Amino acid sequence: MHLKEIKKIYHKELDSLYPKEEVDSFFYLTIEHYLGLERFVLVLEPNLTITKEEEGQLFSALSELRLQRPIQYVLGSTQFCDLDFIVNQNVLIPRPETEELVYWILDELRHVEKEISILDVGTGSGCIAISLSKYLSQAKVQGLDISKKALEVAKQNAIKNEVEVSFLEFDALSLEQFEGQYDVIVSNPPYVRELEKKAMKKNVLDYEPDGALFVPDEDPLLFYKSIVRFAHHHLKPGGMLFFEINQYLGEATKKLMQEEGFLELDLREDMYGNHRMLKGVWA
Ligand code: GLN
Repeated sequence: MHLKEIKKIYHKELDSLYPKEEVDSFFYLTIEHYLGLERFVLVLEPNLTITKEEEGQLFSALSELRLQRPIQYVLGSTQFCDLDFIVNQNVLIPRPETEELVYWILDELRHVEKEISILDVGTGSGCIAISLSKYLSQAKVQGLDISKKALEVAKQNAIKNEVEVSFLEFDALSLEQFEGQYDVIVSNPPYVRELEKKAMKKNVLDYEPDGALFVPDEDPLLFYKSIVRFAHHHLKPGGMLFFEINQYLGEATKKLMQEEGFLELDLREDMYGNHRMLKGVWA
């Protein structure tokens, strides 16, 4: 079959579910993943044909995309901070907003020459911990998660990206037993309120792990409370705490850190102009 025919079928099947550009992007990501073909291949070879087996792979991906399964889970991988990560339904798909948080931390630490100890609470796929370890040669990084299955993914990702990060099973809501002193603590904990569910898309709601996303309406900052308290006891003097946060709860989360005694609070917006990141210093 001609590859361009398959592209047409992708549009026919998916255009009612996703914007056209997104369908194009699904098609190109899929041919790159399965066939190793670049996106401009159809310009260079408009009549390129593919084998029956290759056709089968592209149609099977299409049938999953039709169910609105996220492309990252269909392909089993995604990119974050220019690195490749394995993902499956046990971990949240790394978001571009979270890349912004990582770039902020990298900016703050790039010029530090001594060894830096970093803890990532609720590490999921390990994308934050692994990117920090990869780009900061002086960093010693640990990641915690409550989910064994997420930790398996994170460990595979550390191997894939050739970094040494230690991953441990811990619940972010009961960190009392945890020991260690850190220069930096970072977390992107669950922060989406149940009441925000109706604004979310089917591909997130049906496929991504609830435990990594949702918090009760009546106590949306529960993870932040636990981690802020923990950071109070486990950050070295001058250490920094970084959070990804719920855009509607920026001021409330900032207040929580202030009340615990954190200084130099810095609340930042993401590329969409939403309050998304928060930093405080432990003095
Ligand atoms: N940013 C994610 C979303 O909107 C939520 C991430 C989180 O809860 N930590 O789907």
